[in-house]
Amino acid sequence: MPERLFVCTPSKLGAYEDCPRRYRYGYLDRPAPPKGPPWAHNSLGASVHTALRNWFSLAASDRRPEALPRLLRATWVGEGYRDPDQERLAFRRALGWLESYVATLDPEADPLGVERVVAVKTAVLAFNGRADRIDARSGPTGPEAVIVDYKTGRSGLDADDARGSSALALYAFAAERVFRRPCRRVELHHLPTATVAAHEHTPESLARQVTRAEETARDIIAAERTVSDGGDPDEAFPTRPGGRCAWCDYRRTCPDGARAPGEEPWAAVARALTPAPGAAEPGAADPAGG
Ligand code: SF4
Repeated sequence: MPERLFVCTPSKLGAYEDCPRRYRYGYLDRPAPPKGPPWAHNSLGASVHTALRNWFSLAASDRRPEALPRLLRATWVGEGYRDPDQERLAFRRALGWLESYVATLDPEADPLGVERVVAVKTAVLAFNGRADRIDARSGPTGPEAVIVDYKTGRSGLDADDARGSSALALYAFAAERVFRRPCRRVELHHLPTATVAAHEHTPESLARQVTRAEETARDIIAAERTVSDGGDPDEAFPTRPGGRCAWCDYRRTCPDGARAPGEEPWAAVARALTPAPGAAEPGAADPAGG
């Protein structure tokens, strides 16, 4: 019998790479352990992402900055904030990010896809993922597709972040096959700083990222098999404690997480609204984990 393909998204693979135990809590254990309260930074990221998605649903003639307050209000997620004052400040800041950002866009240009699901199969994976945006651009050899990922969280993203993102590489790999045109360029659009961190992949670098994803999938399959064969689930999916425990949805369930100091649901947003030099923050609403 051929092996079944491992059905996955970037978030699923990323969860295991970050911490196998977090993967188990999120994707295997049923009933799933309760998550902690919603995070304000995820609410903020989701609100901005959805407002931008709806921006592209407007007719080109309606893509004007005056539309943004209505779009943002309609998609606003108010969970996790400390209080109404902080939420209002976050709304105003997000609106400012959007106004600056859409000023850089050509209102007449329609992307190839907005929050578009791209899927591809390899020898090991049945991959699918939702790219924030896939642009149509002209390259030296003709039409190309470009993966665009919005970021609203931590600042200081650079080309290394774009190069190292397995999620962006997998989107590019899949988009190239879905749209039948080269897709090598991946971009992180950081709205708070109005900066773009980009990387040009090669077929070889995309293949390396696919191989790495396949290796992760094989590790997950082996760990799941260990459990189904009667092995200890805690050993098959070990904890990987670290700084990210403070932001983990399963901190209250996980024995190592419970020992780690936690963060308030609004802490990352508070820092983003009043940045402190050197403060570490989680990525907000990363597609590979929001
Ligand atoms: S609290 Fe830390 S060690 Fe526990 S599941 Fe979450 S990330 Fe892993």
